[in-house]
Order: sequence, then C-alpha cells, then structure tokens
Amino acid sequence: MGSLALFASRLVPKISRTMHEFAETEVKLPKGPRRGLYFDLDFAPFNKFIFDAMMDPYWRKVSILGPTQNGKSLLATNIPLLYYLFEEEEDVIFGLPTMDLASGMWVEKLRPVIEDSQYAQYLPTKGAGSRGGKFTAVQFKNGANLRFMAAGGSAEQMSSHSAKVVLMTEIDKYDTSAGDGSEADPVSLIQMRADAFEDSKIVMECTVTNEQGRIWQEAMVQGSGSEIYVACPYCKKHQTLEREGLVFDAADQVTAEKTARYQCSHCEEKWDNNDRLEALQDPLLVHKGQVVENGVVTGDLPPTKAFGMRYNVLHSPMQSLAKTAGQQWEADVTDLKEKKKAMIQSKWSLPYVDEDAVRDQLNMQALRNKADGSDCQLGTVPDWADVLTFGTDVQKGYCYFKVEAYNLTTMKSVVVEYGTVDQRQDTDVGIMNMLSEVNDIAMEGWPTESGETMVPECKMVDCGYRYDVIALWLQTNPSWYGIKGVGKGLRSKMTGKKEVYKIDGIVTVRQQDNGQKLWFIEVDNTKALVHDRYLLQSEELDYYRYVPRDVDIGWLKHITAEEREYDPLGETFKWKKTRRRNDYLDIASYNVAGSYILREKANRSKKRNEQQVKKNHEAIKGPRKSKEQGKWFSDRGSKLN
Ligand SMILES: [Zn+2]
Repeated sequence: MGSLALFASRLVPKISRTMHEFAETEVKLPKGPRRGLYFDLDFAPFNKFIFDAMMDPYWRKVSILGPTQNGKSLLATNIPLLYYLFEEEEDVIFGLPTMDLASGMWVEKLRPVIEDSQYAQYLPTKGAGSRGGKFTAVQFKNGANLRFMAAGGSAEQMSSHSAKVVLMTEIDKYDTSAGDGSEADPVSLIQMRADAFEDSKIVMECTVTNEQGRIWQEAMVQGSGSEIYVACPYCKKHQTLEREGLVFDAADQVTAEKTARYQCSHCEEKWDNNDRLEALQDPLLVHKGQVVENGVVTGDLPPTKAFGMRYNVLHSPMQSLAKTAGQQWEADVTDLKEKKKAMIQSKWSLPYVDEDAVRDQLNMQALRNKADGSDCQLGTVPDWADVLTFGTDVQKGYCYFKVEAYNLTTMKSVVVEYGTVDQRQDTDVGIMNMLSEVNDIAMEGWPTESGETMVPECKMVDCGYRYDVIALWLQTNPSWYGIKGVGKGLRSKMTGKKEVYKIDGIVTVRQQDNGQKLWFIEVDNTKALVHDRYLLQSEELDYYRYVPRDVDIGWLKHITAEEREYDPLGETFKWKKTRRRNDYLDIASYNVAGSYILREKANRSKKRNEQQVKKNHEAIKGPRKSKEQGKWFSDRGSKLN
C-alpha cells in the first residue's frame, strides 16, 4: 500500500467486529479437550448473551457469575481483554485481589492467550511484562496499556490512572475496606477508575460466595439478574435449569451417574444428556421480572444499567449430566460442610447460606430496626425495671461506662446510658480520680418514667487493666465489685483459691490474696446472652432486650463488633472480632452477670423473709437449725467486699 493509500485508509474509521465475530476468528481455546481450536459460539450459544452485553453501550456494568472449570474466565476475562486491547485499542485496567497475583495472572493466563493469537506481535519485547516478574502494567506495541490494580493499593496511587475499560476478577475476595470503613472498598475504588469516560465499561466475574458477596449484589440484586432459559424438547415449555430438576438413583455414585436425568418442571418428562444438549442450542435470556410466554420473552427491562447474568453447570455443555449427578451424590452423602458448600457455589452458582452462622448472628440493622420501633429512650429508666447495673471498663487514658435496667422476674433489660470519662492526670492517682468521677455519675442516679430516681445496685469495674491501681481504689469504695472476664479468647485466668460463690456458666467469685473478692465472668456465655436476647423479636418474651430509640452508630458498632464462629459441626463457637472496639458489648456482658447476681440476691432475701415469717409462726415449736447457704449474701453490711 502506497503512503497515500495508507493515509486514505486511515481516514476511514475503523469498524470493529463484534466480540462474537472477533472471538471466533482470533481466539484459540487455551485449555480443555478442545484446546487449540478456535472459539466456536455454536458449542455454547448462551455465550452470545455475555458478548452482546459487553458490546451494548446500554450496559455500563457487566457481571458474570458462573460455575468453576467451565470456561468462565475465557468468556468474562480473556476474550474481552483481547477484544478491548487489540480490536478497540483501548487501555484496560485489570482488578484482582492482590498485586502478588498480577504476574501469575499475566504469565500463566493472559500472555499465553495473546501469544497464541495474531496479536503476539504487539507483546512488548523489553521492559515490564516482557519477562514476567514484579510489574504493574504492560504497554503493547499498538499503544494500548494493560494496568493491574489490587486491594491495598492506595486511593491516591490508583487515582493517577484511568481507563475506559475495567475488567475485574474474583471480586468477592477484595470487597471489604481496610481500617474503619471510612474509605470506599477496593472494588468500588477500582471501578471508579473508569468514571471519567462517558462510555465506560466495567466487566466483573466471580464464583458466588454468599448473598452479601459483591458479585451476587452486583449481578442479581442491583443488576439485571438475568438467567438462561431453554425449551423442553418434549413439551417445548421454557425453564431455567436448576438443582431441583436433577434426578438420579442415589444407591451409589456409579448408579447415580448412570441414572442421571433432568426432569422438566412442566411436563415432568426426564431428559437425557442429549436432550439437554439439544435444548441448550436455543437459549433465551430472561431478565429479572420478565417471563417467557409461548417461546417469547415478555416484560420490561429492569431499571438498571448493570447487566448481571448467572448460569450454572447445567447450562454448560462442557460437563455431562452424569458427571454432575456424581458430584451431587458426593455432596449429598458427605458430612463435610466445605464439600456441600463447594457444590452449591462452584457448580450451581448459588450463594451459600451457612445456617449455623446465620442462626444467631446479630447485625447492626437488626438492632437499628428494634431501636426504630422502641418506646425506650436513653436517660430514662422504664417503670418495669427493678434494678440498675453499672459496668466500667478502664482503658489507657479514659474509661467506658454503661448502665442497664433489669426486671428481675422477666429478666427483660435495656441500656439506660453509656459513655466515656477521661483520665485527667497521667498518674495512678489520675486513674483513681477518674473512677471516683464515674462513681459520682453512678450515685447521681437516673430518673424513672414515674419521676423517681434510681441508683445502681451493682457497680462493677473491669480489673483487666491496672488491677494494682484499681484494687487500691476498691479498698475505699466497698460498694464496687472488681471483675475480670474469662473465656476462650482471653488470657486472664481465675486467681485466688477460695471460691466464695458461683453461678454456673455465668460468674465465679473468688477471694484474692489481698482479701478482695473478684468476680470472674464467663464472657463467652454472657456475651451470647446479650446477643441472643437482642435477637428475640417479641417484647412478650422473657429476657427480651430493648434498644432505646436514640442509641448512636458507635454503640451499634460496639455491640456487633464480635460474631460467633462455629466449628464445622456447629456445636461449639468462639467469638471473633470484626471490629476493634467492642467495649459496650463487654460491659453489657458484665451487666448480664450483675443481673444474675442481683436476682440470686433478691431470691435469697425473699426466701429468708418467707422463712422468717414461717419461723415466727412456728416459734412456738421451738428453735431449729438453719442450714442456709450463701451467707455471703447477707443483707447486712457490705456484701462482697
Ligand atoms: Zn417438558
């Protein structure tokens, strides 16, 4: 071509092929039984829905969730990457969980596909990306750039680069923001790199984790929630293919594979694998809210610019019905939760619901919902309350306190006030002065609904930090109880040989060498009581815990800063911190223990009164020996100290 002709040819705008045409003429399959062959849409016609969505300017985001080992990365990563870099000659930002994965992704997955295409000529011969190793970007000889970004890259660093196209892989693995959550999560930060382009395109793929997972949210909740429907070869009615339709004789794995069929959800005819492959040849794309009537999709597009498509192992011609039945059989018979989970997520492309984890997990929204409909407000003691408990947790430089009201018959409770007090001098005396200030707050008391004033009957201070100083202060403040938390995650062990008192599973009181009594509170259990009671939904239930309508976000965060993590059998749990500050939860767990102590005390004093009455009546019969236990709960004098 002469230079003039070349010049002329450049004046004609380049007309890009469709992604579908491009894939069939330029992309060879990198692995699997058809390795080395050109991509062929006839093999799995539903692939065209993905390509069409990526080409269609209507959709700003395209999220694909599909089974593993069924060509998902070829469809949602390799082909679009080649298309955008070499057919449209656009820069591409490639998001992944960590930068450590970037060179592996490039060397093992992306570069071989390019090397195997006519675009090998554009691969850089020197510099980053030519030999692997640590790198963040590749510049191709056609001028297009491929830049990797991962979670942990600073927002500032990221913001110096942008691209019209952002491809992201395994997004559920880096969807949480570091630190206190004030910065956006990494997935959103990387997506924003395309914001400057009116015709931006964000393509995401991932295996499903759970309903809160980013890919499920992007594709199915916020996105178009699109599914693939196929027609039954027998009754011609359309349906999506799901786990419920897979039937087999479960006698053993071989029998399961031999007898595997797909049962039509309309006519109940059983398809064999060839019936299924035939049905897959003519798929329909059905968005959320749409239906198929007489073979035609009807209904409006969902009001979103995000295309999200889910498909599962039954939509993939790469795996036979027999093999799927064999895998399902294995998942059905195993006791291993991980195996069942893998089948649901990696083959059926469905979010895994961990019944054990969900059954008693308290979240901020649940507390907020309770607060919204609540008659209680901070600063006022409800008239149903019998007692107040007061807990304090000393930190370096300040302390948290929290007051709770309890009814000792129903054990219903509510937080009355919470807050912090600063330590004004950086000395041991400063700690003691701070505690005295806290004591003043407690002794001032709180107004009840009927206008009286109520002061706490049980005041506790955590001795986990600076016990030496707190012990000194306790000597002159005998109405206070020193406490320590004991449990699986805690280093503190019970000290003091003499056990004075015990409520099983809640608290053990032991006399220390210095003569003081310390309460050792079993916080694993008492925290569970706090969460379980907040999870009670009906105010009619005993133990119900109210949430005042004016609690703030900080308190909600403290209370939900830990969650229970169960062993695989779901029998035992340990507490796992999800946020750093959990002090109001800790103090709530002390207050629960305090309420048990006060209830015991109330019961004993009631019993004693009844016995006294009885004794007075029976005085005439002469004296009898009292074998009453728990003298420790004498109503006279100071009780625990
Ligand atoms: Zn049918």
